[in-house]
Amino acid sequence: MAIIHKAPEVPLIRPPSEWRSLLVRVTRGCKWNRCRFCGIYPHLGEPEFSIRTVEEVKHDIDLLCSLRQRFETAFFGDADPLQAGVDAFVEIAEYLRKVIPVKRLTCYSRASTLRKIGPDDLKILAAAGLDRVHIGLESGDAEILRYHRKGQSPTMVREVAAWLKEAGIEISFYVLLGLGGRDQWQRHILETAKVINDTEPEFVRIRRLWLYGCDTPFSGPESPLLKEIRAGAFIPQTPEGSVLELKLLLENLDNISTCIVCDHHNNYVHVSGCINEDKEDMLAEIDSFLALPASKREAHYQVVGSRI
Ligand code: SF4
Repeated sequence: MAIIHKAPEVPLIRPPSEWRSLLVRVTRGCKWNRCRFCGIYPHLGEPEFSIRTVEEVKHDIDLLCSLRQRFETAFFGDADPLQAGVDAFVEIAEYLRKVIPVKRLTCYSRASTLRKIGPDDLKILAAAGLDRVHIGLESGDAEILRYHRKGQSPTMVREVAAWLKEAGIEISFYVLLGLGGRDQWQRHILETAKVINDTEPEFVRIRRLWLYGCDTPFSGPESPLLKEIRAGAFIPQTPEGSVLELKLLLENLDNISTCIVCDHHNNYVHVSGCINEDKEDMLAEIDSFLALPASKREAHYQVVGSRI
């Protein structure tokens, strides 16, 4: 069937580090869509998951390249584009690299999807040019992951990380400060540090738990966790608690080359650096923030908290 669309579709969300990338939408929405703390795709008006055809996506790549011819990197979305299947993903990745020889291709992926793909097909994806995957680790604690219906376990993440390393695909984990709430924050952080120390990803990107409610310009449903908060079943972390979580996390990361990146404006403290070289500097930066007068820290939390 002839392809008639004249404007490319682009992923609804991308990592901040991909702001200059060619953004290719391979799938729409999130197939899992169950994480209690999330709900972002329904909130943004994309409640259903679908896989686009290879022809549609190739046509989009042509359209995007006709709009701008120089791209050094590319990113495939939405939440879990490897759900398109290894063959389709490889065909699209190879087409992309033929049309425009990007230096880096990355995508979001769920750990459970990578586990289904398996170590052999991950090597095929690497050979087709997949350089890095952005994975929501969120927490390294099994109970917290279960409560939030993440659909992955720390064991699964460790297994998948080993396969990715073997295939030569870089790992970019996302960690959510506040996911254990006010009651379980220490366990959340200490278990998360263990997974990071064991897997030594290239990047850990820090995010603060932020829930989509009625205070955004979008009209979709709110994050499911808000209901639990109203019912008193989940007590949200305080702003200062989030900063203490980041400090505890850094204190417990050791002997790894992993780079820590706070590259989202919802972070209260924006430290960045690699654990082996910059850990003490990052901790000193957090300590100097915590040494500010309480009124200044509170004013900072108010400004950051209202900017999403
Ligand atoms: S966190 Fe990721 S996997 Fe979970 S519902 Fe949101 S987009 Fe889907």
